[in-house]
Amino acid sequence: MAQYDVVIIGGGPGGYNAATRAGQLGLKTAIVEGRGKLGGTCLNVGCMPSKALLHASELYEAAVGSEFAKLGIEVKPKLNLPQMMAQKAESVEALTKGVEFIMKKNKVEYIKGWGRIDGPGKVVVKAEDGSETVLETKNIVIATGSEPTPLPGVTIDNKRIVDSTGALSLPEVPKSLIVIGAGVIGLELGSVWKRLGAEVTVVEFLDRILPGTDTEVANAFQKILTKQGFKFKLASKVTGAAATDKQVKLTVEPVAGGEAETLQADYVLVAIGRRPYTQGLGLETVGIETDKRGMIANDHYKTTAPGVWVIGDVTSGPMLAHKAEDEAVACIELIAGKAGHVNYDIIPGVIYTSPEVATVGKTEEDLKAAGVAYKVGKFPFLANSRAKINHETDGFVKVLADAKTDRILGCHAVGPNVGDMIAEICVAMEFGGSSEDVARTCHPHPTRAEAFRQAAMGVEGWTMQA
Ligand code: FAD
Ligand code: NAD
Repeated sequence: MAQYDVVIIGGGPGGYNAATRAGQLGLKTAIVEGRGKLGGTCLNVGCMPSKALLHASELYEAAVGSEFAKLGIEVKPKLNLPQMMAQKAESVEALTKGVEFIMKKNKVEYIKGWGRIDGPGKVVVKAEDGSETVLETKNIVIATGSEPTPLPGVTIDNKRIVDSTGALSLPEVPKSLIVIGAGVIGLELGSVWKRLGAEVTVVEFLDRILPGTDTEVANAFQKILTKQGFKFKLASKVTGAAATDKQVKLTVEPVAGGEAETLQADYVLVAIGRRPYTQGLGLETVGIETDKRGMIANDHYKTTAPGVWVIGDVTSGPMLAHKAEDEAVACIELIAGKAGHVNYDIIPGVIYTSPEVATVGKTEEDLKAAGVAYKVGKFPFLANSRAKINHETDGFVKVLADAKTDRILGCHAVGPNVGDMIAEICVAMEFGGSSEDVARTCHPHPTRAEAFRQAAMGVEGWTMQA
């Protein structure tokens, strides 16, 4: 029987980063993945394919709309959807192969098949051909990720009614697409198909988009999306769906009560959240219980079973690839006797639309609820010279700092490339930085990053460029 220090179940950003760190620290490690490819949801059907389509569709829209013409570039663009999908698949394949290479480099054994825990220190892996291998290990790390949450009454067939995976590979551009859920997936994938020509309507249960995001940013973002052509039906619930070969009819009711209406579309995307995935994992053999949502709780990545650890989407916290990655490193370092740690107050969130939305730390609503006195600095992209030159002036940056100490407590932005630039605020926050620290840091000119500096200056009222 093969003996290991660590067996990791699941090959996503949680699993493969845990495996890499374990390999680096000299632990005898195996990673078990059932889908036939490493990279998990993120590389195969999540972060990466969605960003491939967001990038391509953004360029297509710039060419087909008025943007190129305004810049003096005259082209006659034609959509080649199969090629757009093929380049996406090629990039994804290269990335998953890259992860396989990193496993080899760090002497991690990649075992293909579905893993199940079979009592303390034992993992059984069932390969595609039905054969089973038993692995004996000192530590098991559960990194099995998540799956789309189903919506009762709306059966996902991945033909006309699709989940995110289906929406990444539609065979045609829908004339009309209804997105259920105004969250991250709905707005990113809704943007892809809208840019390619679909009429997109978003039906959301709450009376706002992006719950949990700073309200001022979410409201401004909704206005921008509406200007782009998105239609929103807020405070509405879908109570039924009927799909034919050609279209879907949805029954939608106001949440507050009132008359139901029927909406019709070529395709419907259900994007109402994701839930932890633990199917067939054998948790009962080590006495681990999940909560109502199916989540495995953790205390510094330890489950209730000795020697069994858990990280990523399958446990508490935001379902984000970089959160899974950070937990992977911390968990393995704890297993190796080091001081692994994740700062949950500084996990950024980005929505890769155009413009992007980026947030980190506390929102204004969080601070008000906690009774924390804070100051606000804000700067609009309309006054940022680089954004102006590039005709990308929608949005603003907002920095929130403690009223007494000036320590940065949060930053929320909607605007061009804010997803890349929020990292400077994350670093400042990790160092316990103040708004003055960012305000007095020399930033290159002309860059959109200057908007973050100007917003930081605004906390003490000395914004200079607006
Ligand atoms: P996963 O990536 O889900 O990996 C778990 C792996 O475990 C899977 O490959 C699964 O096949 C395998 N597995 C499960 N059970 C077993 C078993 N018993 N045996 C063997 N293998 C098993 N996050 C971001 O931060 N940025 C983004 O831009 C972003 N975009 C996204 C876009 C979409 C459309 C979706 C759906 C998600 C997106 N996410 C994004 C979220 C991100 O994909 C997840 O947070 C991340 O993948 C979680 O990593 P994980 O390792 O916990 O789980
Ligand atoms: P989400 O939680 O972001 O949004 C779901 C939305 O659906 C919410 O606005 C919610 O109020 C709404 N909703 C819930 N039930 C509903 C119902 N019955 N009818 C109508 N609306 C309903 O979930 P998601 O967009 O499915 O994304 C899942 C996860 O994947 C998220 O946790 C997200 O962090 C992650 N993800 C991240 C990125 C990124 O980082 N850029 C991209 C995609 C996905």
